[in-house]
Amino acid sequence: MKVRLLSVRGLDRRDRDYRRVLQEAAAVLRAGGLVAFPTETVYGLGASIEVPGAVERIFAAKGRPPDNPLIVHVAGPDDARRLCTRWPEAAQAAADAFWPGPLTLILPRSSLVPEAVSAGLPTVAVRAPAHRVARDLIQLAGPLAAPSANRSGRPSPTRAEHVLAELGDLVDVVIDDGPTSVGVESTVVDLTGPVPLLLRPGGIGVDSLREVLGEVEVPLPWDPAGEGAAADPRLARSPGTRYRHYAPSTRLVVVRAGPARDLEAAVEGVRREIRRLRQEGLKVAVLGADEVTRALSGEADAVVPLGPYTDSVQAARRLFDALRRVDDAGVDAAVAHTYPPLGVGLAVNDRLLRAATEVRGAGAAGGGEAAAGGNRGAAGGGGPVPRRVLLVCTGNTCRSPMAAALLRALAVEAGLDLEVRSAGTGALEGAPATPEAAAALAQRGIALGDHRARLLQEADLAWADLVLTMTRGQRDRLRDAYPQAAGKIWTLGEQGGRPERDVEDPIGGGEARYRATLDEIETLLRRLLARWRGQEGT
Ligand code: AMP
Ligand code: MG
Repeated sequence: MKVRLLSVRGLDRRDRDYRRVLQEAAAVLRAGGLVAFPTETVYGLGASIEVPGAVERIFAAKGRPPDNPLIVHVAGPDDARRLCTRWPEAAQAAADAFWPGPLTLILPRSSLVPEAVSAGLPTVAVRAPAHRVARDLIQLAGPLAAPSANRSGRPSPTRAEHVLAELGDLVDVVIDDGPTSVGVESTVVDLTGPVPLLLRPGGIGVDSLREVLGEVEVPLPWDPAGEGAAADPRLARSPGTRYRHYAPSTRLVVVRAGPARDLEAAVEGVRREIRRLRQEGLKVAVLGADEVTRALSGEADAVVPLGPYTDSVQAARRLFDALRRVDDAGVDAAVAHTYPPLGVGLAVNDRLLRAATEVRGAGAAGGGEAAAGGNRGAAGGGGPVPRRVLLVCTGNTCRSPMAAALLRALAVEAGLDLEVRSAGTGALEGAPATPEAAAALAQRGIALGDHRARLLQEADLAWADLVLTMTRGQRDRLRDAYPQAAGKIWTLGEQGGRPERDVEDPIGGGEARYRATLDEIETLLRRLLARWRGQEGT
């Protein structure tokens, strides 16, 4: 079947031609067809959830794995409530504050939601889009399941041309209303648990969410450093965390600019990567802030600017088109950098890091955290399952030995093949662990053995795939002292999905304090292991 491209660009909503286009598209949807339409985030590939078999066509057209659920686009809260078995206060508050707009809510699904939409999950994702075309279509055709209108794994479409180029005749109708305004997908928040949980950063920033919802849990490492995407036990089946995504065909190196040194670090890091790639004889493009592309235009073969460094709203709007441009630039590789992780900058970084074939630190020595081939998927601290983990605290007599012993035990329990070491940044070599630490472990049936404190050595950092500190202070000091290893140094809290949590020193606090500290360590480690287990299966 031939795709019909229907444009409403420049038309007023009251124009007869506009209404005719919408009527025609709605008729196609009601007959079980596929319509690609603009939303304020990206172009969606819509099907009616009320017509049997329609939604299945989305999966076929996109080549989308059947266990990757779809967002249902609704007119507003009334529509949404019918699709959910619970509509908690938080959902109403979020809808009042952000709908229509780029926020998706996960709630327990009602029987009105077809299995295929939710990919067998007991939940449903609902969102009321703000774009006039999306709203009018829903008004005419009812709730629409609609993922981004791209082939699975590719950058999301922000223009009708992107949809046509990629899906062409797999779609019945494409409605063109020009480029989308937000440019990255909606923020996804899970409201099924006691605390709202961020499943995907997007058009609505976490700060704005917190203003309305209070506490919002942000899984690592959409942490304050804003350095990528990761999973959480509860996200194990949430596709964004599992599948290759947003990727251009061209090799893409992403430099983490880091939260502090930012622009300067971005320029230097990108420059270093350009040189490295050009030494390999490759043609290289720079994708990034105007300041960066300007500074490096003489050193690169092509530049794809995204607007001012501090304007992450603009970067978000231009990002996906820019990723596609990279493929048309006649280069072998592109180098991009992350943005300040504020507002929608978090989503920009998430998409960039998921699109990357390699992720590099901005530090002078290059970070050396290139992903082996392919896409990193969950980048940064949410990266591949490590084989060698180094736990670091200060004295290596309480927290890190407890964490190491517990991690070894939990890894065995989980069937993960893991080597674990611990060390202290200020350890007294050979000092024994505190008796309280041994006692707390013994309560769980775990022996600490004859642990002796070790002073952290550079060789430990080289050995480890993943370095976990107890506090953010330790993390920052280590990253500064060992920039070449900075990319693999995280806090335990970050990796355990509680980025704002430090594991404080229990020393001098008595046995109860030690037990509480070990409980806290266990919670974080279990979350971490659940995520690794989820990743190993895919
Ligand atoms: P896309 O429509 O391509 O932007 O992808 C939809 C996104 O919504 C996925 O990445 C999922 O993470 C999320 N999603 C949709 N339904 C659910 C659900 N029931 N539970 C968790 N996440 C969901
Ligand atoms: Mg998508």
